[in-house]
Amino acid sequence: MRETLSQFNQLVEDLLLDEKENPVSEPIPAQDLYERIDLSLQDEPLDKESFYPILKELVLSAPKTATRAFFNQLFGGRNEKAVLGELLSVMLNNSMYTYKAAGVMIGVEKTIIRSVLDMIGWGEQANGTFAAGGSMTNFMSMLMARDAVGSNVTTKGVREKMTVYTSTESHYSIPKNATFSGIGREQVRYIPTNELGQMEPDLLSEEIQKDLKNGYLPVMVNATAGTTVLGAFDPISDLSVICKEYNIWLHVDGAYCGSVLFSKNYRHLIEGIEAVDSFSINAHKMLGTPLSSSMIFVKNKKHLYESFSNDANYLYQTDHDELNLGKISLQCGRRNDALKFWTLWKQIGTSGLEKMVDKQFELADVARTYIAQNDDYTLYSFEDSVGICFNYKDFPAKDICTLLYEKATLMVGYGHFRQDEFIRLVTINAQNEKEDIVNFFRTLESFVEKHKEELLAMALPEQ
Ligand SMILES: *Cc1c(COP(=O)(O)O)cnc(C)c1O
Repeated sequence: MRETLSQFNQLVEDLLLDEKENPVSEPIPAQDLYERIDLSLQDEPLDKESFYPILKELVLSAPKTATRAFFNQLFGGRNEKAVLGELLSVMLNNSMYTYKAAGVMIGVEKTIIRSVLDMIGWGEQANGTFAAGGSMTNFMSMLMARDAVGSNVTTKGVREKMTVYTSTESHYSIPKNATFSGIGREQVRYIPTNELGQMEPDLLSEEIQKDLKNGYLPVMVNATAGTTVLGAFDPISDLSVICKEYNIWLHVDGAYCGSVLFSKNYRHLIEGIEAVDSFSINAHKMLGTPLSSSMIFVKNKKHLYESFSNDANYLYQTDHDELNLGKISLQCGRRNDALKFWTLWKQIGTSGLEKMVDKQFELADVARTYIAQNDDYTLYSFEDSVGICFNYKDFPAKDICTLLYEKATLMVGYGHFRQDEFIRLVTINAQNEKEDIVNFFRTLESFVEKHKEELLAMALPEQ
């Protein structure tokens, strides 16, 4: 083990050095992948001397997500305080299903869940759990919503025509989960948004009424706190009034930006959160924790037991059941995704998490201001979002992003809203500074200048 650890340390040293020199890994064209690196598996064992160089090449070739040139997705950076917990989780290899197998780690998870529930303003009736990602916490919410309507789905199967409602800008896990849950993709109703990308409550009401008239059973409304492209926040309070009226489960998908809960300045973006039925957050997005660390919080914990416990009736729990988290999990064996968030939270405090969230909005302001002051840019996004959508000169967003990637210059993606396609810069890495954001634009500008001809050629219609 010691030898392996020293090998690990050496690899990490090499990686950190390489990240400084090459913040973007040279992409390996997919068609060359198996020729460039020896990934093959053989019958015979491989000695250390032969293995180590292959491993090193593999590590240094992987896309770099922790550097100041990665703006591609809704995560980034590398917070060492959280990494410490993650490395220890791997060493300890506890499985979170029982107190017997995870012991004190159950306390770690429950402390985090309880602390967030307190922040939401939910009492002893509430509970929550970790799952493998935001798609899975959304899945859990859909299952609980489906089971809560009281048509014995868990025993009889789906017998009614159920519907779920989500905005046109919401995450694709919603229709995917509709297939898993037996509700069916065709029963997902996409509610249009306003020009800011927020769900229109009146249109939701109309859609629900139409479905009721046609004999459907509406089971869930999914509101998004931070839509994937624009970073828009659906109006939770307005939606919860409608859900109360029709007795429909309201879930808030806060995978991207639900962590505004931690900020006094931005919590208003999820105003009304205490009135919803379930709420999910990805600590691996705004809260700088390594992938993955996703939580779901449920106002009435009986739903967690009713949907995810195969035997226990929540009414007859022993104290022990409270500690056997397998009774409220989607999975059986479950890795410890709580410890890394705990090592971070414990060390920087709730105020540190708040600063982290605020910093991301601050960096977003820097980006929007830069764009607004420069005529070569067109801005598509609005305040209170950490996703900054823009175009530069008249070059298609897709071409700029692709070429930046191919030339190992910057990792940034593109997205669309209505008829517009644009570059989406995500300021989710709180380890970045203002200069890093300005530097992003400067790099992009000189890059476009240098590769103008190529970009023009890319934009030509294919012959
Ligand atoms: C990222 C994201 C998800 C999915 O989370 P994963 O952890 O990647 O599965 C769901 N909803 C929204 C709004 C997201 O941004």
